[in-house]
Amino acid sequence: MRILDFYKEYPDELSCKLKFKEIRDQEGITCKKCGGLAHYWKKDKWSYECKKCKFRTSLRSGTVMQSSKLSFQYWFIAMHLITSTKKSFSAKEIQRQLGHKRYEPIWAMMHKIKSVVGLRDADYQLSKWIELDEGFFETVDINRDKQVPAKRGRGSQK
Ligand SMILES: [Zn+2]
Repeated sequence: MRILDFYKEYPDELSCKLKFKEIRDQEGITCKKCGGLAHYWKKDKWSYECKKCKFRTSLRSGTVMQSSKLSFQYWFIAMHLITSTKKSFSAKEIQRQLGHKRYEPIWAMMHKIKSVVGLRDADYQLSKWIELDEGFFETVDINRDKQVPAKRGRGSQK
């Protein structure tokens, strides 16, 4: 999908949630508690309720978005960028584009999307992944005990 079509179709959080629900409805919901397949839709709770045992399943539960606090729109934008372009986007870049404060949840989201769409780390050039992870990992300085002065900034041993 081209970027203009994407933003026309998913301009806000609600449009993303509704699309996500549509896909889940097609897939079908299985109750975690009793295995029941029939559910009511609780509109005010954005949850499915099992017709048999009343157990509630949130829209995100059991999906890649489970336990994520990021908005549906974030997920849609990230999925769009990851799947519709040939470029690999670093988590840092997505974070910057979204204007999100924290890096870690964005990194985790991208990691999940990539694993779901079947892109393994090996499919990406190493240099791109180094760029991606640069802001996240603090690695051990291997020369610390050897009294070798570390280079500063990019390319530093740290
Ligand atoms: Zn049930």
